[in-house]
Amino acid sequence: MSVLEEAKRVAAEFEYSPEDLNRGVKAFISQMDEGLQKKGTSMSQIPTYVTAVPNGTEKGLYLAVDLGGTNFRVCSIQLHGNTTFSLTQSKVAIPRDLMVAKTSHELFSFLAKQIETFLRTHHNDHFEAHTRRRKTMSSGEGFRNEEIFQLGFTFSFPVNQIGINKGTLARWTKGFDIDDTIGQDVCELLQKEIDALHLPVKVAALVNDTVGTLMARSYTSPGKTGTLVGAIFGTGTNGAYVEKLDKVTKLRSMQSADYDKSTGNMIVNTEWGSFDNQMSVLPNTPYDEALDKATPNPGIQMFEKRVSGMFLGEILRNAILALVQKPNCQLFKDENSQTNDLHSTTTIAENSALYKQWGVDTSFLSIVAADASPGLKVTRQELSREFGVDASSTEDAEAVKLLANAIGKRSARLSAVALGAIVISTGNHVARGGGDDDVVDIGVDGSLVEYYPGFDDYVREAFREMPEIGAEGEKRVRIGIAKDGSGVGAALIALVAAHRG
Ligand code: ADP
Repeated sequence: MSVLEEAKRVAAEFEYSPEDLNRGVKAFISQMDEGLQKKGTSMSQIPTYVTAVPNGTEKGLYLAVDLGGTNFRVCSIQLHGNTTFSLTQSKVAIPRDLMVAKTSHELFSFLAKQIETFLRTHHNDHFEAHTRRRKTMSSGEGFRNEEIFQLGFTFSFPVNQIGINKGTLARWTKGFDIDDTIGQDVCELLQKEIDALHLPVKVAALVNDTVGTLMARSYTSPGKTGTLVGAIFGTGTNGAYVEKLDKVTKLRSMQSADYDKSTGNMIVNTEWGSFDNQMSVLPNTPYDEALDKATPNPGIQMFEKRVSGMFLGEILRNAILALVQKPNCQLFKDENSQTNDLHSTTTIAENSALYKQWGVDTSFLSIVAADASPGLKVTRQELSREFGVDASSTEDAEAVKLLANAIGKRSARLSAVALGAIVISTGNHVARGGGDDDVVDIGVDGSLVEYYPGFDDYVREAFREMPEIGAEGEKRVRIGIAKDGSGVGAALIALVAAHRG
């Protein structure tokens, strides 16, 4: 078999047919429903206590902070009330010793200090005025609401959310490990340290980044039907959407703080990265299996492991290696060498990143997919520079491109399963009488959806293959990037929370 034939055979293993796709949608809807009814299901379907999306007329100055993995970001957002905003931002790396500090106080007081520095630098007038008032205030007198910054706290760790600004930490991830934070309300921990510094700041909302994306998109998107879904396709993948409150039946048995029920809606954070961990419908290949086995959490986040940026490069690496190691397959082989020993015949350098776990970044898939240069020169240069593969042939590069495209396309079609299932299960596939406002708006964020060429075209193609949506329904769907989603979204949630009192 030629190199190209071999590559086509492997690429075919990543094909995700229209039948598979529609089976996926059915299973996704059924796992969504299950998650709305009870706890402990594969998709968590977490109620966020945010019950409305913005329409672009919201106004005011808000603060937002984001504790993600490596950095802590503080920003202030001026919402102009006409779908536009201005944003001022600062970012600091979180010192490693604070990630594994003995007490929550050490980490959260550091965060509060960053908020203080930010206010002094960017909003000093407000800060000074507040300090003067505080010193002259008589006892028992409180601050007026307009004197206090409302803050949205984006906290990207697993929390049990029980109110719009209330949530206890379930467990730390991403290298953080501070025992005494587990089970505590992270908003309260931050508020305590803010109060200790006498800052004019109220932690008004606890925000998941997908909900932030949904809110930010709904504020900025043209036309005012409101956004249905916010979705992240970056290092990981997850989505949040607007659900009918009476479908979130598990809320009845949950202990929740008071929340606004008047809209009849509730934004739900799906945690879809763990859709179908039981592998009833997800596609599987030897390359997916090799990846899963080598992770610290085999059998968990199985949807995410086929979709998101953290994993696609590694799947490609496994697929390339399978071909390289196949006897008689000519991928990256030195034609002049007669020996059968792998390392002496291949043109891959011995210390190549191709031989290391996580050695291939998903941005490589984007480069290869976009390569239209003669003889795929760009891909061959990249193979040489990044992976120490010298003298690769055009055929080698074409083989890599076949594999990369197959993996990227499968990821996009699986993403369409999640998005399509939400559109269908919420009844949004049904036309509402035409006109400019008859759209289904989806806000997205993350490097994969932003930079992988044609990602949204593949998603749209998959929508057309779903009988409920079809060609007509697909035209009504609008997919747009929500820029600065986490900051603006957190500000908008703080606004909603503050207006409720
Ligand atoms: P995060 O999700 O951590 O906030 P990003 O949205 O930037 O950050 O996503 C980072 C992930 O996206 C990484 O897994 C990286 O491999 C992947 N990535 C970065 N650049 C690209 C690109 N050009 N095309 C596809 N994936 C990319």
